Amino acid sequence: MFEKILIANRGEIALRVLRTCREMGIATVAVHSSADRDLKHVRLADESVCIGPAASGESYLNIPALIAAAEVTDAGAIHPGYGFLSENADFAERVESSGFAFIGPRAETIRLMGDKVSAKQAMLDAGVPCVPGSGGALTDDADTNMALAREIGYPVIIKAAAGGGGRGMRVVHTEGALLHSISLTRSEAQQGFGNDTLYMEKYLEQPRHVEFQILSDSHGNAICLGERDCSMQRRHQKVIEEAPAPGITDEQRQAMSERLVRACQEIGYRGAGTFEFLYENGEFYFIEMNTRLQVEHTVTEQVTGIDLVREQILIAAGEPLSMTQDQVEIRGHAIECRINAENPATFIPSPGTIQQYHAPGGLGIRMDTHIYNGYAVPPYYDSMIGKLIAHGYDRKIAIARMRGALGEIVIDGIETNIALHSELMNDANFQNGGTDIHYLEKKLKSLT
Ligand code: ADP
Repeated sequence: MFEKILIANRGEIALRVLRTCREMGIATVAVHSSADRDLKHVRLADESVCIGPAASGESYLNIPALIAAAEVTDAGAIHPGYGFLSENADFAERVESSGFAFIGPRAETIRLMGDKVSAKQAMLDAGVPCVPGSGGALTDDADTNMALAREIGYPVIIKAAAGGGGRGMRVVHTEGALLHSISLTRSEAQQGFGNDTLYMEKYLEQPRHVEFQILSDSHGNAICLGERDCSMQRRHQKVIEEAPAPGITDEQRQAMSERLVRACQEIGYRGAGTFEFLYENGEFYFIEMNTRLQVEHTVTEQVTGIDLVREQILIAAGEPLSMTQDQVEIRGHAIECRINAENPATFIPSPGTIQQYHAPGGLGIRMDTHIYNGYAVPPYYDSMIGKLIAHGYDRKIAIARMRGALGEIVIDGIETNIALHSELMNDANFQNGGTDIHYLEKKLKSLT
């Protein structure tokens, strides 16, 4: 087992990883930018290294600085968290070639799944259903693209193969708009991701976002920890997640689990991963795979009782999984609200000093956050400052607990989206379960 792990991330996820390391008796190295000296996990870590200035390009994305930090502290492994370099195949490769273990999949798997065109092809080959589409990259030939869109049927969505974080996609409703949309998305993809490869999919009009969590070790064992519903989205970004997904039957879950476990074995997957699907009219359509720990992994942990970070570390150390599929049991229901430092109406980020923070509590409440009284939220990074998770015997109790916790929490000095979450917990359609990916945006429009 590793004696020391370097955590190549910041904020709540760095603290989350540190806590599991501490439990496992593994020493931790925190790395931070010059703007992040006061992060909670930096104070709690056994060692800390400043890796550069505030700009993430020069710190959290600075591969040589991270490798050097691992070398000087003599860390055995690097945990990338989510975002930043977590799905960067070159980073994974550099980590391993420098003699450290990368707590994540092999570089070649990250590369295969990071390109959404090759990921879809790999899934089709493994018998996983995908959204109907171009079946490969789009060319620049106008006639071919128009024929393709006609065959798929409007509306279609043009997506960047290297896209992520809800960016690099455009919906096209009519043939008149197709060619212009393709060239716009192509130049955005080139600028945003340094790769202008595009593909086309049928745009599903009322899908839900349902994703499956898997774990796969390097001994050929893979298990599925059930699914999460992440349909509550704004600008293709998740706001609330829950497990299990309302209305998914045990038969559906089992059938998908078996198929995805086989897919993991076929591609030789190693680590924790998520297969994301759109779910419409009782059918699942694969959209992408995330080859890392996700923000919303917490709801799966609450309903399964399995520490996903612990399993990631064990897998990276070459150990077999701690449990078999038969031992995975989904108990009750869990919901996560992403707490952002932002104005609840305009969504403009609201960095600043937290004058007062009171954590919510009670049975079934988990708050993953790095904030504390007097902590200054810097303006340089993502506005998510924490995740509030409520777990209960059933969905109704989880919602009631979430509502209570949202009422209890105090974060003064900055603006947050807590009021929006309270509004959603009281929303009759959310309470019924199964709202689609457009529900939140429609509701927000009706509120203004
Ligand atoms: P990213 O990597 O940027 O998260 P995804 O491919 O996972 O991109 O898509 C993110 C979100 O965009 C989905 O959850 C869904 O809301 C929307 N989306 C993507 N593809 C489609 C599609 N074919 N039809 C309808 N919505 C889509």
